[in-house]
Amino acid sequence: MIQRCAACGAEYAESDPRAECPCGGLLDIEHPAPSLTGGELRALFDSRLGEPTGALASGVWRFREIVHPAAGNDVVTWPEGNTPLLSREVVSRWAACPGLLLKHEGQNPTGSFKDRGMTVAVTQARRLGASAVACATTGNTGASLAAYAAIAGIAGLVLVPRGGVAAGKLAQVMAYGARTLVVRGDFDACLRLAREVAEELGVYLLNSINPFRVEGQKTIVLELLQQLRWDPPAWIVVPAGNLGNTAAFGKALREARAFGLVSRVPRLAAVQAEGAAPFAQSFRDGFRTRHPVTAETVASAIRIGDPASFDRGVRAIRETNGVVTTVSDAEIMEAKAVIDAAGVGCEPASAASVAGVRRLVREGVIWADEQVAAVLTGHLLKDPGIVTWYHVDAQPRPPLANPPIEIEARVSEVSRLLKKER
Ligand SMILES: *Cc1c(COP(=O)(O)O)cnc(C)c1O
Ligand SMILES: [Zn+2]
Repeated sequence: MIQRCAACGAEYAESDPRAECPCGGLLDIEHPAPSLTGGELRALFDSRLGEPTGALASGVWRFREIVHPAAGNDVVTWPEGNTPLLSREVVSRWAACPGLLLKHEGQNPTGSFKDRGMTVAVTQARRLGASAVACATTGNTGASLAAYAAIAGIAGLVLVPRGGVAAGKLAQVMAYGARTLVVRGDFDACLRLAREVAEELGVYLLNSINPFRVEGQKTIVLELLQQLRWDPPAWIVVPAGNLGNTAAFGKALREARAFGLVSRVPRLAAVQAEGAAPFAQSFRDGFRTRHPVTAETVASAIRIGDPASFDRGVRAIRETNGVVTTVSDAEIMEAKAVIDAAGVGCEPASAASVAGVRRLVREGVIWADEQVAAVLTGHLLKDPGIVTWYHVDAQPRPPLANPPIEIEARVSEVSRLLKKER
């Protein structure tokens, strides 16, 4: 297992702590083929289902041979993963996609998929003897970093854009005990600063440019394939911001085929918000140029104007014959209201995946009889502010608004309302 620069091909030891190659390229982990492949590797992974305790009880470390085979006893785990794969008729009907499945990554320990990457990257920080770890974040990476740094006993530094972070996420960072630095600037400014801090102050960087984050996030796809008994869906649909997940999904599928876990791979669909769609714009011109933007969307987790894992994302979309699409904030909020009212719930960015499914079905890109797995990336309670805005404050009142009703303390008032409900 080595690290290799995706731009110039330079090779680095697995234990090299640098955040990127001096040439500016990002590093990727390269795995030799594991000693078991194909059906034997599937059987090994399947044999660990239901492990009661220890690292192998994690939905990340169950796949350790193709995630971080050198981690040994240093694993820092919650444990994470083991998220449900749901089918909900009201959501399928709304998206006009009968074969729609929801992989709910909001059911991770800190409420987002970021825990899958963080368990591996903080494990690596421990192996390297790092005294401090840092990240720039729209919130969830920080919440996750704070929790895992606390478990590992390493100091955590979280850089957030002023005014751009949902309440639930900021609360987590403070509560788990990382130091929160509020930066006067947007996410892209935070990430630039975090990279400089890592370079100049020797702090270990835990953003998704970190190749070990990517290794952990691959397990969303590995676990999904395992839940489908290694029979891949036609599509995997994911919200796309900094493109860490898009990149990780592409790598997971590439390796799953190379190691014989599956014989064909699903197509990837990356979904961006219209106001934060630099990747979608590049997709439309055949990825010839980058189109950095000043990002604006209700979905703060994907409010990113210049995605760091751009090149990795391009590779993932190309290799899977994938697509990149956009949805409006109104579509995101409607999809979210449907997912929430189904009793499932998710944060706004997550709903972009389901809104994207509906759009791709309408455009005839996804066919009505295809099986589609949409990833819900974060938990409903991450962003309580937006829920209140939608149901109480938004004008004109949105179609699915469900505001509380104030009454006098009398049974007659309740009975009058009950009749109306029926
Ligand atoms: C981080 C995050 C995203 C964006 O993922 P990328 O890997 O940056 O593309 C989407 N949704 C939620 C809830 C997130 O926390
Ligand atoms: Zn390089």
